[in-house]
Amino acid sequence: MNLVLLGPPGAGKGTQAVRLVQKFGMLQLSTGDLLRAAVKAQTPLGKQVATVMAEGRLVSDDLVTSLLRENLTAHLAAGRNSFLFDGYPRNLTQAQLLDELLVSLNIGVDQALRLVVSKDILMQRLCGRRVCRSCGATYHVLFGPPAKEGICDKCGGELYQRADDNEESIGNRLAIYDKEIQPLVEYYQAKGLLVDVNADEEADVVFPRIARALGSEV
Ligand code: AMP
Repeated sequence: MNLVLLGPPGAGKGTQAVRLVQKFGMLQLSTGDLLRAAVKAQTPLGKQVATVMAEGRLVSDDLVTSLLRENLTAHLAAGRNSFLFDGYPRNLTQAQLLDELLVSLNIGVDQALRLVVSKDILMQRLCGRRVCRSCGATYHVLFGPPAKEGICDKCGGELYQRADDNEESIGNRLAIYDKEIQPLVEYYQAKGLLVDVNADEEADVVFPRIARALGSEV
């Protein structure tokens, strides 16, 4: 199964992606994670996109699509055949580019799952989000703090606040999402692939809804 995961920043895409991977065995391809890795490694691409990302703006369709193509092709060559697209597509052009790319690789999108969350909950989640530098696990300073402040429960890694999790960048990211999401939703609706899931509650409550929406029980 190839699944597109849609939803605003803070909807819990990363958290739910981990569970989806565990349950359905897909490979998660997060363009945000791939870009952050490039920034951290200070590759030429990373240097090019660091400022745009920190300000919460979108990286160009060309750059992000080439990065995705490169990763997807490598994973297919390594025998993987079921993918979870997280953070891509972000706009209608990317949805069309993704379809072209998948057709050229003889695969396609089976479902587009949108996580729907109210604005005030998103703001609260994003402002307090902390991420482990080593394993990528996410925490929240109020709603899901680690046992020891600043330290990951799972691997002991250092927790940090993403450069784009500040109020100004969050505002930019949510505004971009609001502007781009409707055409994307209509695109997948017209293909009969869109499923909406309410993701206002905590992750453990949301995941069974996702599993049911995908025709499975937890
Ligand atoms: P995310 O981790 O999905 O919230 O993405 C973090 C940042 O990476 C975004 O705010 C963008 O700057 C960039 N980014 C991730 N995915 C895309 C994409 N599909 N198109 C353009 N920029 C992206």
